[in-house]
Amino acid sequence: MKSIKHKLFISYTITIFLILSLLSGVSIYLFKQNKETKSLELIDSTYLQFEDLLYEKKNINIKEIDKYMDLSNLFLIIFENDKLVFTNESRFKTLRILEEIEYENKEAYEDHRDDEDHHEWHKRKDELKNKYRDFYDDGYIEIDDYVFELNLFELNDKEYEVYLGIDDRYLDQSFDDIYMTIIFSNLAIFLILAILGNILINRTINPLKLILEELKALQETSDLSKRLKENKTNDEFEQLIDSFNKMLSNIESSVENIKQFSSDASHELRTPLTVIQGEIELIRNKEDVSKEQLAQVISKIDNEQKKLQEIIKNFLLLSRLDKEALKHKTASLDKVIFEAIELNLEAIEEKGLELKLEVDDNLEVSFDEKYLSIVVNNLLSNAVKYTKEGSITLKSKKEANKIVFEVIDTGIGIKKDDINKIFERFYRVDKARTTTKNGIGLGLSIVKKICDRFEAKIKVSSEHEIGTTFRIDFKA
Ligand code: ADP
Repeated sequence: MKSIKHKLFISYTITIFLILSLLSGVSIYLFKQNKETKSLELIDSTYLQFEDLLYEKKNINIKEIDKYMDLSNLFLIIFENDKLVFTNESRFKTLRILEEIEYENKEAYEDHRDDEDHHEWHKRKDELKNKYRDFYDDGYIEIDDYVFELNLFELNDKEYEVYLGIDDRYLDQSFDDIYMTIIFSNLAIFLILAILGNILINRTINPLKLILEELKALQETSDLSKRLKENKTNDEFEQLIDSFNKMLSNIESSVENIKQFSSDASHELRTPLTVIQGEIELIRNKEDVSKEQLAQVISKIDNEQKKLQEIIKNFLLLSRLDKEALKHKTASLDKVIFEAIELNLEAIEEKGLELKLEVDDNLEVSFDEKYLSIVVNNLLSNAVKYTKEGSITLKSKKEANKIVFEVIDTGIGIKKDDINKIFERFYRVDKARTTTKNGIGLGLSIVKKICDRFEAKIKVSSEHEIGTTFRIDFKA
């Protein structure tokens, strides 16, 4: 498996290699382009210098012209009245240059020198122009590796034929040096950048390595209370550690919840089972059991088994709510309210509670009727259960784009400290006091879960010993 570090390093080096190659290519190309203009500029400027010297210093010895000007990389050949008077190259090289630019072959040159009869100057001028016509380009003559300027002029009754030019091979050599410098310097830059890149990549990737090591250590301990060490890098790694720690906290609290739930659940299941077992033992050990005693025991056992059924029914409902996809339909709130009243009417009458109704007709809410019944019924039965005297008010009405439902009782109320906990699974405010009342502490957690799933907001306000109000805002 290749590490991210290697992958990053490879992509980084490939990128800088490509960029530097491109830069080298472009600079070499530009230098090449520049080379030609530079050669021509050099010829031009040297020729101007030459002319200035001739016209300004009248007594100049033309044979020593190289003392007055820089002729490096250039060749200068001067004929005075068809006689070679100056060359800055060796005799052999001069002949070779002249041959190559097809001036004369050696013999011709020698003949030319010995020729006593002077050509007519203008004839010679035309002859040379004619000769090099095919090689002329922008005033320069190009023959093989030579680029030169041919000038003919008269000065102090003397005719001068001047060849000033450049041997491309000289320049090629100096440009080869430049190319090598470009390539080597780019190679050096590449190496420096690669080393720097490697250091930077290492620095950037290191926190990830540390995170991985810590994660491996966490995996081995399987201790959910452990967290990754915070690293104030102020970048994505810090966010990663932060998110991971939050995720661990969530997992820890979920696992805690599951543990708590299974311990509470087994406790809740064991209580009725213990009662049933006790009753059976009692009967088994008695020799004479009257009919009434038997009926009493059976009724107790029946009560407990009903509790068990209720607990299991609620467990199943909770697990269904966790995994089932719930569909929003329209449910008639007023219809569900009246059905719930019917179910609780007996208990309400038994306690002599007053039932006040402020229920509007035709209130359609975005809910599933089956689950809406569970919610309304739970709230109403709680209100009955926890109210000794007074009244229970049921209100429902449309408000803006929502429908509000309220259950208001004048019961025992809930203390401030408990109010946030009543929606937790198995939470019962006062275990000792409420054990006499039926209930296992799952009703409100089911109500809350259903409301969350149907995006309805449930709120509770209560005053101890005065009464409690549960309010639900439904989507219309
Ligand atoms: P239970 O089965 O105990 O009724 P719930 O989940 O329905 O469980 O309610 C949790 C706790 O909230 C109850 O035990 C009770 O202490 C408190 N409670 C719920 N409704 C009311 C109410 N209308 N008035 C006072 N206390 C209430």
